Amino acid sequence: MVNRKFQPENTYVKVGPTTFGEGLFQVIAGPCSVENENQIMEIARAVKLSGATLLRGGAFKPRSSPYAFQGLHAEGIQLLLQAKKETGLPIVSELTSLSQFDLFEDVDVIQVGARNMQNFDMLRELGLCKKAILLKRGLASTIEEFLMSAEYIMTGGNSNIILCERGIRTIETMTRNTLDISAVPLLKKLSHLPVIIDPSHAGGMRSLVAPLTKAAIAIGADGILIETHNNPAEALSDGAQSLDLSDFSELMVEIERRVAFE
Ligand code: PEP
Ligand code: MN
Repeated sequence: MVNRKFQPENTYVKVGPTTFGEGLFQVIAGPCSVENENQIMEIARAVKLSGATLLRGGAFKPRSSPYAFQGLHAEGIQLLLQAKKETGLPIVSELTSLSQFDLFEDVDVIQVGARNMQNFDMLRELGLCKKAILLKRGLASTIEEFLMSAEYIMTGGNSNIILCERGIRTIETMTRNTLDISAVPLLKKLSHLPVIIDPSHAGGMRSLVAPLTKAAIAIGADGILIETHNNPAEALSDGAQSLDLSDFSELMVEIERRVAFE
C-alpha cells in the first residue's frame, strides 16, 4: 500500500493548518524534552515568531539509561497543549507505549521513535486511528524495513504517515548517527508518503544542524525536525545537538529564501 505502484500520486498529510507532501516545507521545532512550563512556553513563542510550522516536545522519553530524565509524562502533554493553545502551532510528541494513547487525544502528530519503528503491535494499533503519525527510521533499519513499518500502519487504514530519516548507525563515530541523504529520493521514488529529515539526531551536534538542513532542502525533503532549546547548556536531554533560540531564528531567515513555507 505504501508502494507508488499502487498509488502514483503523493499522499498529503494534513495537520491543522499545515500539510506535508504538497510542496511546502514544514519546520517542526522545539525541545527534545518538555521540562517545565516556562521552558516550553518560551520556546513555543520564539519558534512560532521565527516561522516554525509545528511545535515538538517529548513527554515520554526513550532514554538509553533508566537513570536519565524520562520526561514529564502526562504533565508534559498538558504543557504542550497549553503551548498549542497560545501559539496555534500543531504539536508533535512521541508515544512510547500504547497505554499512553488516550493522553494523545489532542496531540496533532504522534511520533513513533526510532526505537519503536519495529514495534509491530504498536504500528498495527496506530493504523486503526486517523491521526498523523511521524514514523522515524530505526537506528539500524534498511529502507525496505522502514517502508514495511509504514505498511503496518497503512494496513489498518491510516495513511497519514510522515517518514523521517534521522540517521543510522554506521562505522563513523564522529557523528551520533550518519544521515542517509539518499533515503529521501529513494523513499519518494518507492512510496507516495511525505519524507522529512531530522538533522539534530542525525549529526548529534549543533554545528551540523544548519548544513544538514540545507542538504534536506536541496534533496527535496518535505520538511525538517530541529531540536531547539532556550538554554541548551542546561537541557535535560540532547542539549549538544539543540539550537538556541537565536541560532534557530537565524537559520530560518537563511532558509526562507530557499523554500516556501505557506
Ligand atoms: C527524539 O525525537 O527526541 C528522539 C528520541 O528521536 P529518535 O527516536 O529518532 O532517536
Ligand atoms: Mn532528542
